[in-house]
Amino acid sequence: MFNSGLKKKIAELNSALELLKERLNTLENENNRGRAILDSMVEGVIVVDKDTRVLSLNPTAEKIFNTTRESALGRIFLEVFPNNDIAEVIALVLGRGEFISRELNLVWPVQKVFQVNASPISESGAVSGCLLVIHDITEIRRLENMRRDFVANVSHELKTPLTSIKGFVETLLEGALDDKENSVNFLKIINNHADRLNTLINDLLDLSHIESKGVALKKDKFALSILVDEIMPVFRSHAKKKGIEIRNEIPQGLQITADRSKIEQVLVNLINNAIKYNKEKGSVRIYSEPLASGIKVVVEDSGAGIPAKDIPRIFERFYRVDKARSRELGGTGLGLSIVKHIIELHSGSVGVESTEGLGSKFWFTIPK
Ligand code: ADP
Repeated sequence: MFNSGLKKKIAELNSALELLKERLNTLENENNRGRAILDSMVEGVIVVDKDTRVLSLNPTAEKIFNTTRESALGRIFLEVFPNNDIAEVIALVLGRGEFISRELNLVWPVQKVFQVNASPISESGAVSGCLLVIHDITEIRRLENMRRDFVANVSHELKTPLTSIKGFVETLLEGALDDKENSVNFLKIINNHADRLNTLINDLLDLSHIESKGVALKKDKFALSILVDEIMPVFRSHAKKKGIEIRNEIPQGLQITADRSKIEQVLVNLINNAIKYNKEKGSVRIYSEPLASGIKVVVEDSGAGIPAKDIPRIFERFYRVDKARSRELGGTGLGLSIVKHIIELHSGSVGVESTEGLGSKFWFTIPK
């Protein structure tokens, strides 16, 4: 009797133990799942208690703040993350028990822009901590700024010739039409500005076409030297006026596989610059160098060169060393960015070596 009662109790205890084990297992599994989710999140996640002691942080948060879980856990937030803006957000959440979302500029440990979402954690109706989810939006903001700058630049570039056209038309309408000699001059200026608008719009259309990811390259195998010979007549009169000699030193037998008309555009832009920014009686050489991975094409000039400080930005849209000079020479500031985009579409790279006063070597590579 006694024995059977004991056995029953032991059996009950055993099954309670099994149940407990199962629950612990489930809890552990849930915990592991939660951990895995946190570990794989691209957002930084930090949990602090009501005294702002760090209870948890995921690997992204470790990376953002250049810290480790071991050194952060259990310490006051500001000791680990010396950022007053986030500390202020945490204090507000802990004080008010409300969700707060803010965009913050962080200068430490690196300059970044973050979207910080902070939610209160409640236990039995009282705020017991704060959950921070930190999203790195630096790249999004950078792209937005670039787009804004681009629109501002385009508007400015379009506005300048338009303002001149309008000014001269008004002058003509106000009576200058009767002055035969002047009116012809004014019309010539108007014509130049209209040409400028046309070039600018063509360059913008080219750029937007090349930049649209869907653009398909029509690759062919062709002789580079023949292509260079074919485009020479485009420059002949300009080069002759400045007494510039252009030498095509590309080996006759050299064949490349690329989009012929796009490479033509690259060469036209580079050779055109090499003449435009050259000195009187200067020279332009077009030659190639074999690479293990493909071919390097160089357009070398004996012109003014480019100051070292401008070189890193020279392939940016609308970047010009001397704005007034570029305009005067009919430039749009888009030629080199078109070159860069076309070459990148071919998985090649572009660059420039230049010495002020001596000249520049603009180069591009085309992989095999
Ligand atoms: P642009 O229409 O002004 O020529 P690009 O994009 O072709 O525009 O070139 C950007 C700027 O780079 C030019 O305004 C000029 O200042 C500089 N540049 C380009 N090529 C040369 C070169 N061969 N020698 C000196 N400066 C150059």
